[in-house]
Amino acid sequence: MKNILLLGATGSIGKSALKVIDQNRNDFNLFGISINNNVEKCNKIINEFSPKYVFIHDKSCFQKYKISKDISLLNNDDELDDLINHKDVDIIISAISGFSGLKTTFMAASSGKKILLANKESVVAGGDIILPIANKNNTEIIPIDSEHNAIFQCLSGENGTKDVKKIIITASGGPFLNKTISELKRVTVNEALNHPNWKMGSKITIDSATLVNKCLELIEAKYLFDLEEKFFDLVIHPQSIIHSIVTFLDGSSICQLSMPDMKVPIAHALSEGRRLAIDFNPIEFSSLNLSFQEFPEDRSNIENIAREVCNKGGFLGTVFNAANEIAVEEFLNGRINFDKIYEVIYRTFDKNIMSNDLSIDSIYSVDKETRIEAKKVVKSIA
Ligand code: NDP
Ligand code: MG
Repeated sequence: MKNILLLGATGSIGKSALKVIDQNRNDFNLFGISINNNVEKCNKIINEFSPKYVFIHDKSCFQKYKISKDISLLNNDDELDDLINHKDVDIIISAISGFSGLKTTFMAASSGKKILLANKESVVAGGDIILPIANKNNTEIIPIDSEHNAIFQCLSGENGTKDVKKIIITASGGPFLNKTISELKRVTVNEALNHPNWKMGSKITIDSATLVNKCLELIEAKYLFDLEEKFFDLVIHPQSIIHSIVTFLDGSSICQLSMPDMKVPIAHALSEGRRLAIDFNPIEFSSLNLSFQEFPEDRSNIENIAREVCNKGGFLGTVFNAANEIAVEEFLNGRINFDKIYEVIYRTFDKNIMSNDLSIDSIYSVDKETRIEAKKVVKSIA
């Protein structure tokens, strides 16, 4: 029996992870969870899974929270760190959304345990810190972002990445497939949130609509697989059935297929040398029609920014991520049009925010400064 600590349990990844755990109760126990403030979902999880520990990030929510069950309620960073390092925790699922997940992902990376990583923003913003600390502490990071999990599966049993010629990261194209940026000026928040293939949290859903998600994933892949950006191509594959493709030096290409369902990568990452049984929709191969097209020309600026982040590292990922998070937030709040998301990123990225030595603290200060700059850009264009 493996004990799981699920960080971001009330989110969309959290929900998929709970389903996988529920369908494999003989193998996995939900030991602890973290939430921000969604008390209703938290209560439901407690009733269904009886975790021993519940970490509530939001202070006022924590202070008001009442629970009759015998559960340890936690709130401050030291308690969270103790929970992550608790001797009975075997597996940590990092599924908090956005930069807010950086601190916990960093703590998890230092723990020497097995991490299932969904929180890509922490790798984009702090990859140069998180990966070295994980290596130093023998922390095993298994990606559950579907494309990265697919690459991970394609590479298993191979000679590391030594024989890799190319990796294609697939993208659905989101709700605005085949539309140019100039055609998207007036799209509404609801239209942008209406993803054709995946049901996810709102931040990543907007990232999928802008295709910035794929740019974040390019950076995530560079760090997780320790390969230069030139190995990765971004390709649109509207059906979201092939989750990525690895081509080897001998001309063989291997890919991983499943219907779009986050339970699949989560189940793979939880399993150890075998396959877990879960409920899934099978692919109807006889009626399958798979298509691919080039990453849109008018997103090449944003792709180039991501490639620059990969090549230069340091704080550039922090800046890119923070600029995007502000732009998405301002779009969701109705303050800027969809097409302005790109402009906020370009103009904030141009400001070249610098800091001294790379550390968790300096990443936080660069993030903070970038958010201020991005908000100034928003003000100037809104
Ligand atoms: P959601 O918005 O659905 O869930 C976010 C989770 O994080 C919730 O549990 C939320 O708690 C918690 N949270 C939010 N803010 C904070 C904070 N400041 N401190 C602590 N906890 C916080 O996001 P998703 O599940 O969609 O995404 C999670 C991560 O996984 C993201 O990094 C995303 O990019 C990645 N990912 C998601 C995929 C998906 O299919 N959804 C696919 C691939 C990657 P509360 O509910 O209490 O607010
Ligand atoms: Mg993905």
